[in-house]
Parts: sequence; structure tokens; C-alpha cells
Amino acid sequence: MLKKRSLANLPTRIQKLERISRELKGPEIYVKRDDETGLEFSGNKIRKLEFVAEDALSKGCNALITCGAVQSNHCRATAALGAKLGIPVFLVLKQNQEPDYIGNYLLDYLFGASITLITEEEYNHRRGNVMLRLRDQLEKKGLNPYLIPEGASNGLGCFGYAYAIEEILMQEKEFGRHFDRIVVATGSGSTLGGLILGKELFEHPGEMVGINITADAPTFQKRISLMLKQALEHIPNHQITKAVNSSGSHPLFAQQKINIIDGYVGDGYGKSTQMEWDFIKKIAQQEGLLLDPVYTGKAFYGLVQEIKKGSFDQDQRILFIHTGGIFGLIPPQGLQR
Ligand SMILES: *Cc1c(COP(=O)(O)O)cnc(C)c1O
Repeated sequence: MLKKRSLANLPTRIQKLERISRELKGPEIYVKRDDETGLEFSGNKIRKLEFVAEDALSKGCNALITCGAVQSNHCRATAALGAKLGIPVFLVLKQNQEPDYIGNYLLDYLFGASITLITEEEYNHRRGNVMLRLRDQLEKKGLNPYLIPEGASNGLGCFGYAYAIEEILMQEKEFGRHFDRIVVATGSGSTLGGLILGKELFEHPGEMVGINITADAPTFQKRISLMLKQALEHIPNHQITKAVNSSGSHPLFAQQKINIIDGYVGDGYGKSTQMEWDFIKKIAQQEGLLLDPVYTGKAFYGLVQEIKKGSFDQDQRILFIHTGGIFGLIPPQGLQR
């Protein structure tokens, strides 16, 4: 339907988490290993960037500009993508002081990305302008840059996880059963947005659930609803686009239908509590599975708490998407005692 540049190792495997499922006596928990998508550990980001890369290259662009936090996984994945494609990458990063070369920032440097640091204040209010100015400067130098929004969270970025649903449907055929809920950490929104789009495009019967690790549920419901509207512009002749447009509004993607479980942001984006660290350690030892502190650690913790509260039926099957983020585990945050 929509063209992509094939860069990820797909399909990613699905594993059952036997011991934690047994301990909780709740639904069966499975994990889809999107931490193994490749492109130097790009996690969930590479599925979105496959569509972004195709769009950029088909438009004749020969440089990429994007933005994020100084330890952004998305920026590091974009830096890796640029190196892979052989085109320069320009990152606008939110950081008040000169950062140490650790974690993702070190990898940005190794991949050869050019970096512009701006203050948090400037980032929050004027990053769009900063990126446009950068684009103008690069154009004057003869480059044709392509702008990618934070987290590649726009309409196009949603197609990465829309197609992941097609992949999951194929895997479910082998298992002989559908997953009742597909759960993911939500940070900028297009992973969950993509799953919701995929549910409609490929008719998946399950419920798509996000657990936000920053901001709050209403913020993401609004943002994702908008993103889905933008996504439909990429498939103008699709029956879903026609149905949504003819109804005047977009009932399929109404804000209140976007399921976000709020309450697991903890101390805030990129900050971990002792409880969260204890949980990451528990899962590492119980299942031999490493979660990251910024996204999957919080979201999986949230999922387990919800199971303990009885929010999910015992006979359900849950698929948690492991979105990656391994580099957040070592120096950037590390275990503080
Ligand atoms: C970016 C990211 C997410 C969140 O995905 P969004 O599409 O931004 O909501 C989740 N997990 C990891 C490891 C990430 O890097």
C-alpha cells in the first residue's frame, strides 16, 4: 500500500514470558522483540524510519534533520540511518550544558551526526524555527534536507506500526490465536497511533493500549487523533479514508477511543524511581529480559500493576511490544544508589 525502504530485520520474534505470567496468575504475557529490529539497535524507531527514508529518498532529499532530547533514541536511530544510507544527519538536541559523550549522544557522534544544542526553553518553544533555519542554511550549501519531527511522530511515521500489525496477524496465524491486547510504551505517540491505524487497516480484533511514560493521557489522545488524521492523507483512496471523510468527523480515531493507561510516569521522563529499578532487576532475573529505564521498564511495570489490579481478564493473551532503548540502561541513567 505505502512504500518503504526495507532496513529492519523483520519479522521480530514473539516469546512467552512463562514465569511472570505464572506468578501473576493473570493473562498470558508475550513479548514481541522489537528491540531486535537491527540497524544498530534502533528498536521501534526503525519501523517508522523505513517509511520516512523512502519518502525522503523518493523526493530527492540528501540530508536528514530531526530533533529530540540529548539522549533521544529516535535521534540516535536517525543518525544510524543516515550513516547506513550515506547521507548527512543534523540533530537539534535539547540540552542546557555541553553533554558528556555517553549513551546515545556518544553514538550520535560515532555515526557522524552534526549536532546543534539548544536550551530546554528554546527547544520547547522554538525548535520548529531552529530546524527551519538549519534547513535554509543547508539549502544555501546546496543540500536538499528532509525534516523529521520529534520521534518521527507524524502521519507517515504511523505506518511503521500499522504494518507491524500485519506482521503480528501473520504470526498469530501460526499460533492459532489472536492477542486480545497489544501494549506499548508511549513517548511521542506514533507507535501506538500506528497500532491503532493497523488495527483498522488490517482488521485486528484486539485492543491497542498505550502506557504513557511522559505527559498525560489527554495530551496523547489529542496528539494521536491528529496524527491518525494526517496518516489517512497518505492513503487517499483507501476505504477507511473514505469512510472517515464521509462521516465528517473521524469516529474510528476519536480521542476517547484511544486507550492510554496513565499513572506510570513516575518521577518524570528519563527519571527512575528505586521501585522501577527493582522491577527492571526482577524481570532481568526472572525472564532473562532487559527492559530500559525510560520506556519499556515503566510501561511493563505499569502493565504488571494493572494485571495485579485485575484490569485484564485471566483468559486473555497480552502482547507487550519491547520497543528497545537498551542504551538508556548503561551510563546515561545508570543505577543510582
Ligand atoms: C521512542 C520510544 C518509545 C515510544 O515510542 P513513541 O512512538 O515515541 O510513542 C518506546 N520505547 C522506546 C525504547 C523508544 O525509544
